Amino acid sequence: MAGSTPMLTVLMFHGLVRDIPEYSVYRGSRTCLIRQRDFDSCVGWCARNRRIISQQDLPKYLRGEATEPGVLITFDDSLASVVDLAVPVLQKHGATALVFVTTGWVEGKVTPLIFHLERDLWDSPPQRLDVRLGDAEYSVAINGRAGVRAAIAGLWNRCFAARVAPLLLRAEWIRFDGRPWEPDPARQERHVWFPATWSELSQAARDGVLEIGAHGDTHTPWSWLSDDGRRREIAEPRERLRAMIGAEVRACSYPHGMYNDAARGAARQHYEFAFTNVGRPLRDDPADLLPRFHVPGERPVLMDAILKYPLAGRVLRKAALMAGAR
Ligand SMILES: [Zn+2]
Repeated sequence: MAGSTPMLTVLMFHGLVRDIPEYSVYRGSRTCLIRQRDFDSCVGWCARNRRIISQQDLPKYLRGEATEPGVLITFDDSLASVVDLAVPVLQKHGATALVFVTTGWVEGKVTPLIFHLERDLWDSPPQRLDVRLGDAEYSVAINGRAGVRAAIAGLWNRCFAARVAPLLLRAEWIRFDGRPWEPDPARQERHVWFPATWSELSQAARDGVLEIGAHGDTHTPWSWLSDDGRRREIAEPRERLRAMIGAEVRACSYPHGMYNDAARGAARQHYEFAFTNVGRPLRDDPADLLPRFHVPGERPVLMDAILKYPLAGRVLRKAALMAGAR
């Protein structure tokens, strides 16, 4: 039926900001950050038009026994801005969200260098950027700020091609105009890719507003892992999270949305639910490959135009069309 409402739509967010910084151009063409007021309008729309579910409702939806169209709100990467800016909005609307925690990121207490690089390139673009990626080298000429987005997008792509996890990029691999890049370690902005702490996450879990899931230890794509890597990135984070949060961990999401048969097998062995980044509503998907819509997934410059329509309404309308088109 064209336009029928899907029974379950899962939304994927990352971080919130009061305003999107000019330099934030994750992968060149889109940002993973959403303004708090847009998130508020999105959750408000969901609360009025759908049932906002928690993971304990999931089995009913997966079995096709649910009677009300539902939305599950998820966050990847466990950022501090989720605690500061999303939690109050969720509480205001009586909603909960499932947060997928990257354990090593929480323990490292710093913004991964690739986001500092993004900002430094924007603030003072060099003529040339060189990055050593294992045996490969990424070299790009940058012609002022206009070239920064393409350079960052190219870097993400080359990281994946060279199988170097982008969030593990190291300063000593990077040169600006042939000179070593020296990021300022003191510049940590709490609302730009900075992780939440264990105590903040456990408090939000105790308050019943956040549920906690797993998202690896180092954010290395799970499709790249050896047996040993799967133990460290898939199995052990579940125990670590249980110890630190004091609650059962039932769900995970694939870092960068990347998986293979071995990763799926490990996810199934340790978790009841595993989420991908495939942007469509739930159909009869297996519990280890649950689709999610990335929000906003749009260029910052388009956000105002998009918000002439309620953001969630737009996403969910698209979801309805896609459900009808199956
Ligand atoms: Zn992630």
